[in-house]
Amino acid sequence: MTAQHDAPHDLVGIGIGPFNLSLAALSHGLPAQGADRLATAFYDQRRDFRWHPGLLIDGATLQVPFLADLVTLADPASPWTFLNYLKHKERLFPFYFAERFHIQRAEYDAYCRWVAGRLPGLHFGHQVDAVRWNPERDLFEVDYTQLDPDGEAEALGRTYTRNLALGIGTAPYVPEPLRPLAEAPTVPVIHSADYLDNRARILGAEHVTVIGSGQSGAEVFLDLLRARPAGRERLTWLARTPSFAPMEYSKLGLEHFTPDYTRYFHSLPEPVRDRLVPAQWQLHKGIDSATIAAIHEELYRRTLHGGWPDTVLTPGVTVRTAGRVATTKVELHLEHTQQGSRSRLTTDAVVLATGYKERPLTRLFAGLDPYMRKDSSGRPRIDDRYRMILDPSVSGTVFVQNGERHTHGVGTPDLGLAAWRSAAILNTLTGKDPYPQPDRTAFTTFGLEQREHTRPRPAVDLLPLVDHP
Ligand SMILES: Cc1cc2nc3c(=O)[nH]c(=O)nc-3n(C[C@H](O)[C@H](O)[C@H](O)COP(=O)(O)OP(=O)(O)OC[C@H]3O[C@@H](n4cnc5c(N)ncnc54)[C@H](O)[C@@H]3O)c2cc1C
Repeated sequence: MTAQHDAPHDLVGIGIGPFNLSLAALSHGLPAQGADRLATAFYDQRRDFRWHPGLLIDGATLQVPFLADLVTLADPASPWTFLNYLKHKERLFPFYFAERFHIQRAEYDAYCRWVAGRLPGLHFGHQVDAVRWNPERDLFEVDYTQLDPDGEAEALGRTYTRNLALGIGTAPYVPEPLRPLAEAPTVPVIHSADYLDNRARILGAEHVTVIGSGQSGAEVFLDLLRARPAGRERLTWLARTPSFAPMEYSKLGLEHFTPDYTRYFHSLPEPVRDRLVPAQWQLHKGIDSATIAAIHEELYRRTLHGGWPDTVLTPGVTVRTAGRVATTKVELHLEHTQQGSRSRLTTDAVVLATGYKERPLTRLFAGLDPYMRKDSSGRPRIDDRYRMILDPSVSGTVFVQNGERHTHGVGTPDLGLAAWRSAAILNTLTGKDPYPQPDRTAFTTFGLEQREHTRPRPAVDLLPLVDHP
């Protein structure tokens, strides 16, 4: 072990995506017990901050308003707000007249990099390898590998901390039948997370298939459609969902992305929570209606001079297996769920817009596993203050950011709750509520006031209605 930081931190963050960056920004300058400033350090294996670089497609926007930046919904006077970023970039007036509530993804990425470039205590190029509890020192031990600009291991290090914030985000998910394809280099079969790096290669393919009906799938399909010559589009878009459905975006529907709903969801029994998340797919999957409209608009534009675009958009289809044909083509074996029919599609390139999964904790937290309390599915139990429930012998706290969908619901990966969750974590960590939070955040009252639990009510004798003479 070469580098060892003996002075323990108050808080170490693992991963610097938007959520731990929000925590770093809101913790910056906060006073701590017995010290003038909270001692924090955040580590990320990437060499600098990058927000989904493979999908910063020109014109693609956030699905949430710009107020869902790193800090505003907890502290609108913070120096790290999006508006303050625009001020620093002397772009407030253009933004004012642009009247854009939903900013471009590329702008959100640039804003986060502006914050990451100014905040002290952020260590990029540091991969955290293991976390364990050190009962002698009453501290968490965090082992990391310092990486050189090519991502090669350069040095090993260890640091100590009283508290941790787990913000390792999600990783691209490739369904089983398609994994062998994605691993072989000859035919371009890529996950949408790597789209822009492979865009030229994909566009060069004779026929392209996009799989997946989420926002990424729609944006990739639209970008390819716009780039392909009219009448020779040669594009297929397949989805398992019964339709290319819009994301829920009604004002009351969006109240599922509030702290009130998150509190309510957390209070539900585990089996109910596990049933709800998949049932609410249109809240966090689906396609933003502006993108659906843009796709229809582009398809329609291509019929102006007669004929139909050479595109096939088919929902309700599962890719059962996939294989190579010769060395340059892929054959997808398809099944239509409702029809029960099967067919084959030969294509020259595949974009897998098949989503993301929470990164497994097995390796990183192996040392903590004996102390972790798990639910009936072996998932970490997380309390309403985003604390991982650990054996009482562990006096430190592990806070979880975007790894708690099973306990806190659909709002977990939502940028709109980033500042709120960071503030809740810092209020708990400091015990001083530096960021006072409102009791109420929604017009909807989720759940009934718990006067009595759903035990059977005794039959009451309904008195006959008295006819008023
Ligand atoms: C393409 C895309 C677009 C999205 N758009 C929106 C949107 O418009 N609105 C919205 O509300 N939500 C959106 N989301 C959902 C969500 O907000 C994002 O996924 C967001 O990036 C999650 O932030 P995060 O901090 O949890 O994780 P990530 O952004 O995934 O960052 C996690 C970081 O942890 C690092 N890391 C992981 N393991 C280690 C380790 N062992 N050591 C060191 N570092 C590690 C990774 O390198 C990464 O930088 C989008 C998601 C995707 C994929």
